[in-house]
Amino acid sequence: MVKTNEITPLEEWNLDIDNKTPFVIAGPCSAETEEQTIATAKQLKKGGVNIFRAGIWKPRTRPNCFEGVGSKGLKWLDKVKEETGMLISTEVASVSHLEEVLKHNIDMIWIGARTTANPFAIQEIADALHGYDIPVFIKNPVNPDLELWIGAIERISQAGIKRIGAIHRGFSSYANTKYRNIPQWQIPIELKQTIKDLPILCDPSHITGDRKLIKEVSQEALDLNYDGLIIESHINPTKALSDSKQQITPNELFTLLNELVIRDIQSSDTNINTVLSELRLQIDSLDKNLLETLEQRIKITEDIGQYKKDNNITILQQDRWSSILNKAIARGHSMNLSEDFITKIFKAIHQESINKQTRIMNK
Ligand code: PEP
Ligand code: MN
Repeated sequence: MVKTNEITPLEEWNLDIDNKTPFVIAGPCSAETEEQTIATAKQLKKGGVNIFRAGIWKPRTRPNCFEGVGSKGLKWLDKVKEETGMLISTEVASVSHLEEVLKHNIDMIWIGARTTANPFAIQEIADALHGYDIPVFIKNPVNPDLELWIGAIERISQAGIKRIGAIHRGFSSYANTKYRNIPQWQIPIELKQTIKDLPILCDPSHITGDRKLIKEVSQEALDLNYDGLIIESHINPTKALSDSKQQITPNELFTLLNELVIRDIQSSDTNINTVLSELRLQIDSLDKNLLETLEQRIKITEDIGQYKKDNNITILQQDRWSSILNKAIARGHSMNLSEDFITKIFKAIHQESINKQTRIMNK
């Protein structure tokens, strides 16, 4: 397990730039040409962005499309650094990428979602990182698997890297949803609970896949106390060779950043704190009621389990379960509780009832 003192908090990364809140990394999905790379960086720098991103090797879902310019793009990134003073970052997905990157002046790297999902690739990169002191951001794996994300962070940490950050870029789903990758905010919250000092950035570009939605997701991340954002920005988004629907111009990025509301973790105003703690007391009391109700429900389930056992009846009656769930969804609907939420809760309760009844049957 990664211990707290093995991760350096973001304020102590000693980056050679003004540390602003939120921490922002911006730049195109891909470096396409030297001109596009330098021009985008110069505009971003003018608006106060100090860390530049650009993909050099692109993990594309299907072959025969633009797969990045390869190593020659690293020279363009070096030039961005020389000409603008920005810090530069790119994605590595293999040891050979890392070796190329380390020959240049790249200040930080990130590991993409597809790579995080592959422990072999992560371990090879971790082994090759031994002895280097470069900040590494680790995107969540494409699938909603917290353990896999933690595992990747552990492997990089065990290579001696202390400046590690996580990037939440949403989780892939087969269903057609509003977002390209569903945020599932609970997973990064659990990650932060497991590794307390871990800096975390949100990548609203890959979550939304749609430039119109980037602001709402960025605000949601800041409201959840994220340390920063990594946003794709291109001088000419509609002509971008990858991810064109989700890229925004540097000017659009500045407007968006200006419009974001930065909230305090805590208020120093006692009135505000009093109102908040009263509301929290109500929550605590409701949570207690919820638990007591669950306890009562489980007890009755156990009585039913015993009764079913005594009378040789199966645990599951499919019709009964469908009727419980449908009734709950209908009630929830009139109470403004979403079907998805009610379904998740009732499935969890039902699973626990089955577990208890199975235990009784097997006694
Ligand atoms: C990217 O940042 O350009 C990228 C490929 O992201 P992800 O790994 O999140 O898909
Ligand atoms: Mn992209």
